[in-house]
Amino acid sequence: MILHPSFDTNEKGHLTVCGYDAVDLAKEHGTPAYILDTDAVRGMCRMYKRAFREHFGEDSFPVYAGKALCYKNLYRIITQEGMFADCVSSGELYTASKAGFPMENVFFHGNNKTDYDLQYALALGVGYIVVDSVDELNALEAVCRETSMDADILIRVTPGIDPHTHKKIITGSVDSKFGSAIETGQAMKITELALSKERIHLKGFHCHVGSQIFDIEPFADACSIMLGFIKTVRGRTGFEAAMLNIGGGFGVRYTDKDPEIDYEANIAALGKRISALCLELGVKKPALFMEPGRSIVAAAGATLYKCGSVKEIPGFRNYVSVDGGMPDNPRYALYQAEYTAVNASKAKDPAEYECTLGGRCCESGDLLAEGIKIAKPERGDIIAVLVTGAYNFSMASNYNRIPRPPVIEVSKEKVFCSVRRQTFTDITALDI
Ligand SMILES: *Cc1c(COP(=O)(O)O)cnc(C)c1O
Repeated sequence: MILHPSFDTNEKGHLTVCGYDAVDLAKEHGTPAYILDTDAVRGMCRMYKRAFREHFGEDSFPVYAGKALCYKNLYRIITQEGMFADCVSSGELYTASKAGFPMENVFFHGNNKTDYDLQYALALGVGYIVVDSVDELNALEAVCRETSMDADILIRVTPGIDPHTHKKIITGSVDSKFGSAIETGQAMKITELALSKERIHLKGFHCHVGSQIFDIEPFADACSIMLGFIKTVRGRTGFEAAMLNIGGGFGVRYTDKDPEIDYEANIAALGKRISALCLELGVKKPALFMEPGRSIVAAAGATLYKCGSVKEIPGFRNYVSVDGGMPDNPRYALYQAEYTAVNASKAKDPAEYECTLGGRCCESGDLLAEGIKIAKPERGDIIAVLVTGAYNFSMASNYNRIPRPPVIEVSKEKVFCSVRRQTFTDITALDI
């Protein structure tokens, strides 16, 4: 096993993903290519469902955050696994509905839903609209009036917690474009406004404290604040929230510097804390929802590239250039996200060649990793970057007019191309 159960080596000394030879996969499907072990994805869904039912209660469900990885067949898998889904745009709603996802199990997010988004969500029968602001609440009421439809909503609240993670992905603190803060009184104001509106039915509250969280403290803190808020709201308005959604954020091990995480044990511990908090506060335990994205898909994915050149600059460093880069994985360029890379063609050779993994774009910042060690590559070797299942395909661009790679799903049962490779025709398809 390399980092996660999906990755190993075989007798040829090649990397394997879900038991399939990565060099063979690259030969058959071309490079770059995203590989996704769907058995691992399903395993995570099942773990979350079981653990939520056991530790959070019967009506509690995991909500898959589609922004991590979104395409039709993934929604089919999520449907089969009985997950709820979190969508953040009309494009994600469209993808989910085209895949036959039960839209009543969708939470619709976003800090700036347009009138079109709100109309579209209501027309599709989306279960819950997570209202972000007073402007949005008023706009939703107007849409409901026009269409004679009702909307079930949650209100997004910022509990003001710093989850001690990377700054750019902190979204739960008071200074945020998301939600309404408890601290400033704005969360109470929007709650009272929502309760006063016809056709709008408040079901509960939502918060999201951040990402790459490896222990339960930030979640437990958030629950404590949110349950306290639920109690204050009850005291003031008589409304008792039946649902509490505490967002996503469980961490994933990208390199061996990251800690290992036992999700089930964390959920069990969090469940205990929540039960204790409810008792202490005298609040009826709400149905609990969490929105894992990264932790469901990241460790199931790898990206396969072909090495094009190895350039050694004496006194500086070694550049290994591959046939992908920031268009298929912008996370290093965006916020220096660290990854583990493997020379998939020589996966059993000692990983002693220190290098910078560069892409093929006309941009010096187009790097995938710096200061990593892999078995010394040569032109033609297959280089794998591991744990790319989340926020890679979903964040990909066509910078430099480079076609997007395909998504190749692998499972014990079969290899399945679920998103085909873009062609040059696709790239110019919208050009008049
Ligand atoms: C990003 C996000 C998630 C998913 O976060 P992960 O770190 O991928 O688990 C869930 N809910 C909301 C509101 C988000 O913004």
